[in-house]
Amino acid sequence: MTTEKPVVLLCTCGNTLGLDFDDMKREVSGYEFAGGVEVHDLLCQEVGLERIKSLVAGGQERLVIAACTSQKIKPRIDAYLLSNGLDPSQIQYVNIREHSAWVHPDPNEATSKSLDMIRGTLALSVRSKPLTKEHKTVPKHVTVIGGGIAGIESALCLSGLGYKVTLIEKEGHLGGHVVRLPVVAPTGIPGQELLKSRMERLKSSENITIKTKTQVKFVKGEMGAFTVHCVSESGEEYDIDTSAIVLAMGFKEFKPEGMDEYRYGVNPDVVTQFELSTMLSEGHLSRRSDGGPVKEVVMVQCVGSRSEDHKRDCSKLCCTFAIDNALEIVKADPSVHVRVIYMDIRVPFENEMIYKESREKGVDYIRGRVGAVWEAGGRTRVRFYDSLLNKYFEVSPDLVVLSSAILPPDGVSELSETLGFAVEYDGHVKELYGKLRRTETRRRGVVAVGAVTRPQFVFEAVTDAQAGALMIHNELQDGAIERLARGAVLNVDECVGCSLCAQQCPRGVPLMIEQKEAEEASAEQKLLFKASIDTLNCHACGVCQSLCPSGATQLNFLTNEQLWSQIQSTLDGAGAENPITLCFHCEECSVSTIDIVGTRRMKYPASTRLIPVPCAGRVSIIDILKAFEYGASTVMIAACETDRCHIGGTGNEIAQAQVDVAKDILNAIGWEGLRVEMFRMFSAEPERFIRAVQEMTRRAKELGPTPVHRGTAGKWMEASN
Ligand code: SF4
Ligand code: SF4
Repeated sequence: MTTEKPVVLLCTCGNTLGLDFDDMKREVSGYEFAGGVEVHDLLCQEVGLERIKSLVAGGQERLVIAACTSQKIKPRIDAYLLSNGLDPSQIQYVNIREHSAWVHPDPNEATSKSLDMIRGTLALSVRSKPLTKEHKTVPKHVTVIGGGIAGIESALCLSGLGYKVTLIEKEGHLGGHVVRLPVVAPTGIPGQELLKSRMERLKSSENITIKTKTQVKFVKGEMGAFTVHCVSESGEEYDIDTSAIVLAMGFKEFKPEGMDEYRYGVNPDVVTQFELSTMLSEGHLSRRSDGGPVKEVVMVQCVGSRSEDHKRDCSKLCCTFAIDNALEIVKADPSVHVRVIYMDIRVPFENEMIYKESREKGVDYIRGRVGAVWEAGGRTRVRFYDSLLNKYFEVSPDLVVLSSAILPPDGVSELSETLGFAVEYDGHVKELYGKLRRTETRRRGVVAVGAVTRPQFVFEAVTDAQAGALMIHNELQDGAIERLARGAVLNVDECVGCSLCAQQCPRGVPLMIEQKEAEEASAEQKLLFKASIDTLNCHACGVCQSLCPSGATQLNFLTNEQLWSQIQSTLDGAGAENPITLCFHCEECSVSTIDIVGTRRMKYPASTRLIPVPCAGRVSIIDILKAFEYGASTVMIAACETDRCHIGGTGNEIAQAQVDVAKDILNAIGWEGLRVEMFRMFSAEPERFIRAVQEMTRRAKELGPTPVHRGTAGKWMEASN
C-alpha cells in the first residue's frame, strides 16, 4: 500500500546506535505526516537497498531515511535506484548517527533530538513534489579561447569526444610559450617535439576549425546558446554560435622595464628567462649587444614575484625554467659559468632531480640578492650579495637572465565582464573551488584550464585541459541534455524586476528579459525587465530564493513553505522549559565539519536541532525570524570559510548579510540580536562547531525565554516600544 505521506525508515546501524528504537517507532507512527515506519538494521546493505527499491517501485516515492550521514548513504541509494530506473529525488535524509547518537551520550536526549529532526523532515517531505526530467538539445560545438598547449589539448579532447571545436588564437601561430621551451620539465624533451603530434592531429581533425590572429570581443548568452563575437586582425567581425567555452589563454611573462636596478630594456644583454629559452631553442646563444660568445651567465630569481609592487605570490615555474635553461647551457658548453642568484629554490616533483643534476654539472647557486646591474668598459657589471658568505661580489657576465613573474594574460577582466566568470585579486580566472572543482568557473558552461587560472607546468596544463573537456562533455551530454530539473523555478507573475537574483546568482543563471508586452499593456505600472531562469542551468544553491523580495524564485525541492514547515515541526515543543538552538548548516561544506564531530564522538549540548540547506546563502532573514516565531531560543548558521563556497560564489557572505540584518531587526523590535549568529566551519577544525554550539546554548541560557516563549511576541512592534 502506498500513501501520500512519507514512510520513515529508521536504521539502527547494526544495532550500534544506543537509541530507543521501540520508542522512536511508536512516536513516529503517531506523527501527523508519517505514512508508516519501519526499523532496519543495515539500510545501506543489499537487503535495505532492496526494501527501499521495492517501496519506490511500488509508488512510495516519499521516504524519510533516518540513518547515518547523507554524504555516505545518499549516493549509494541514489545509484541503486537510478540503476534500477527509479527516481530518488523525493527521498529525504535525517542523520541520527553522527548528528545525534554519536555526540549525545544520554540516550533520552539523543532520541528526543532525533525525533524532532525526523518530525521536521516529515513536514518538508509531505510537501515535496516529483522533479521532472527535462530535455534540451544544444549544438555540439565548443569554442576554445587560446591556442597554447592547454587550448590545443582541450580542442583535441573535445574533438575526440565528438564535438565541433573552434580554436581561437590571437597570435599568428599555435603552441603558445611551449614552442619556445628548449626542454619541457620533467620530460626532458623540447617544446616543439612535445607539440608536434598534437599539431598534426589538430590539422587533420575535421572537427576543429582554427582561427589565428583573432580576438574575442565579447560573449552573450548562456550554456547551450553562447554567441562569441570575434574580430580578426584584418578587422573583420563575426559571431560564433557555441554551447560551451574553454578559457585557455595561458599567461604572460612580466617585462621588468620599470625595475631600474636590472637595466632590462636598456642593456640588450639583460634578457628574461623566456627570451633565453627562445635563444636556446633557436640555437643561437650569444651576447645580444655584439654577438660575442656567452661564457658567463647570471640568472636572477624572483624578479617581480613575491613582491608587493608587482606580484605578491611565488610564480611557481621560474625556478624550474631557470634550472632547465642553466642545464641546457652547461650541457652544450661545460666551460660556461652559470650563477643563479636566488632567495629560495622551489622545485616540485621530479624537477628536484634536475636541480641536483645541474649542481653536479657545475651550475652555481648563490643565496642572496642582486644589488645593481650597470655597464662599464663595454661590459655588463652585476653586484650581488651572498647571504651565506655575508659578502658582496662584482662580476662581468655576458648575459643577465631575469626569471620574471608569471602573470595572467591580457583581456581576462574584459572577458569576465561579458562572460560573468569571477577573477582572482591578481587577475587569474577564479576556479569554482580550488580543491574539488578546479576547472569550473562560476559561469555554467565556461571552464578555465591551464595557466589562465594559476601558473602551471606543461603537464599540469595538459591534465587540466583533459579535465575541462570532460567537464564540458558531462554538461553538454553529447548535445542532448537530459536531467532532473532540480533547482530554482521562477513564477514570472510574482517577479518585481528588482534584478537581485541576476546580480547575486553565483552561476549567472537568472537573466533579466525586457518586457515589451508589459510596457504596452500598462504605462504606469510597467516593468521593463523581469527575470528568467533556466532550471537546467541552475546549481540549486537557493541564494536567489533568500534574496527575492517577492518569493518569485524558489528551489523546487526546498520551497519557502517546505522550509518553514520543517522549522515549525522541528521546533514543536521548544520553549522556555526546553530552550532549543536551531542550526542551519550547509549540506555540502559545513556538514563535513559536523560529521567529523560525530565520527570523532565529540560531545556538544543536545539542545541543538540541525536543518540542512543546500548552501548557507539559502537562509533568508525571514527563515531566521520564522525560527524564532516557532520557538527557537537561539539560531545559528554553520557556513563555510570565506572564499570556500562550494557553489563558487558568495553564498556564505550573503548568509552573513542576512544574519546581520536579522540581528538589526531583532534589536529594533526589542529582542536581542545576540540570539542569532553565523559561524565559519572548517573540517580540519571540528572544534569550531563545538565552540559555536556551546556559545549559542550559553546565550540561550543567559538571555532566557524569548518574547515568543513569554507570549508577547505576537506584537513584536509593540514589544520594541
Ligand atoms: S529577485 Fe525575484 S523579484 Fe527580483 S528579479 Fe529576481 S525573481 Fe524577480
Ligand atoms: S538557485 Fe543559485 S544557482 Fe540557481 S538561479 Fe538561484 S542563485 Fe543561481
